[in-house]
Parts: sequence; structure tokens; C-alpha cells
Amino acid sequence: MIPGARLIILGRQGAGKGTQCVRLSRHYVVPHISTGDMLRAAVREKTELGLMAKQVMDAGGLVGDDIMIGLVRERLARPDAMGRGYILDGFPRTVAQAEALDEITAERPVHVVIDLDVPRDVVLARISARRVCRDCGTNYTATGNERYPWICEVCGGDVMQRDDDTPEAVNRRLDLYETQTAPLIDFYAKQNKLVVVDGVGHPDDVFRRLTAAVDAAKEQRI
Ligand code: AMP
Repeated sequence: MIPGARLIILGRQGAGKGTQCVRLSRHYVVPHISTGDMLRAAVREKTELGLMAKQVMDAGGLVGDDIMIGLVRERLARPDAMGRGYILDGFPRTVAQAEALDEITAERPVHVVIDLDVPRDVVLARISARRVCRDCGTNYTATGNERYPWICEVCGGDVMQRDDDTPEAVNRRLDLYETQTAPLIDFYAKQNKLVVVDGVGHPDDVFRRLTAAVDAAKEQRI
């Protein structure tokens, strides 16, 4: 049986978390829980949460801690996450969320927190080229040479630039990342759970670095 894993991935927007989390999720056979994806789904479905979240997201702000903690608490209680584990992507974003997560996962603590490290100037360039399929969520990097840049190769759906990928919103999110989320790096370093993985390079190389880091951390905790 393939062993599961309980992981948190931290990193600036555009560090490659989305792409690497999909691969990690297949590798360890655990759900990829992206709070950004959950919120975008709520926006599409025009739920009460979605209508509220859209304004905050479009402005590049953060949705309130209580709402986010409730969403994640509910998701982690489902059988797939309870049984095999999970990859949390985009959560926690604040120390208050991290403290709540410690309490939620007290019986089965996370194995490792990975800081996928990519410098700010590199992520800014990546984000301006970022595209996503509205229908199946596949990520693309625009090169300008695509024959059909706005049609998804996987499902034929609409490829788009995210509403919150404008330069103003991206800069605001990167500033927010430095002030609010970077303290999480200290929080988890103090718990001896943090591993920094270099996110620059070919996605296959980054993936190898990630699985090596996760496997080493899991070994240590057995
Ligand atoms: P992401 O796809 O992770 O970049 O998230 C997109 C947007 O959703 C963020 O810019 C926030 O507005 C919101 N969001 C996602 N996760 C969280 C979270 N854990 N706490 C607060 N806001 C969040």
C-alpha cells in the first residue's frame, strides 16, 4: 500500500504550489486541499460565501480567519483526509489559522511543512503568464506561441487569467504574504516541522526535491 502523508505547502503565490501539489497528491494518494480553489468554486456557484469572498479576493485581501478555519475543519473531517492525509495549499495563511490547525490536527499532526522558496521577482514574472482552465482547473504558463491560448488541452474548457492576477492585486498579495504569512515560517521552524525546498528549476527537479524532503521528514517522525 502507498503510504499517505499530511503536508502543508507554504510559498509565495506563483511559486509553483498548484502544479506541485497536484503531483504530490497523485504520488501520496491524498487529497489536494486548496483553500483558493474552494473559494473560487464558491464564487462560481454564487453561494453566500462566494459572493462575500469575491470582493476580498479581487482586491487581493484575505478572507476572515473564522470562515477559513471553519471551511478547513469541515474538509479535514472527511474520510479521505482522515484516512490517508492531505496536502494543504493556501492554508494556513495567518498565525491564527496555524494555531487553529494545530488544535484541529492535535490527534494526527502534520508530518512536515514545506516552504517552497522562489524569489519575489521570479514569481512576479511567472504570475503575469499564469492561466487556468475555468472548468477543470489545469494550470498553464502562457508563452505567446500557443495555437489556441484560451482553450484547455485537457478538457476543452475556457482558459482564462484569474481575476486576481492583475499586477496591482498580485503586488498586494505578495506584500500580504511577507507581512502575514512569512511569520508562519518562524511558527513552524520553532516546532521543528519546517523544511525549505528550492522551487526554482524544472518542475520535475522541484518535484524530486519535494518528495525527498517529505519522505525524509516522515521517516524522522516514525
Ligand atoms: P490562492 O489561490 O491560494 O492564491 O488564493 C486566492 C485568494 O483566496 C487569496 O488571495 C485570498 O483572498 C483567498 N484565500 C485563500 N486561502 C485563504 C486563507 N487561508 N485565508 C484567507 N484568505 C484566503
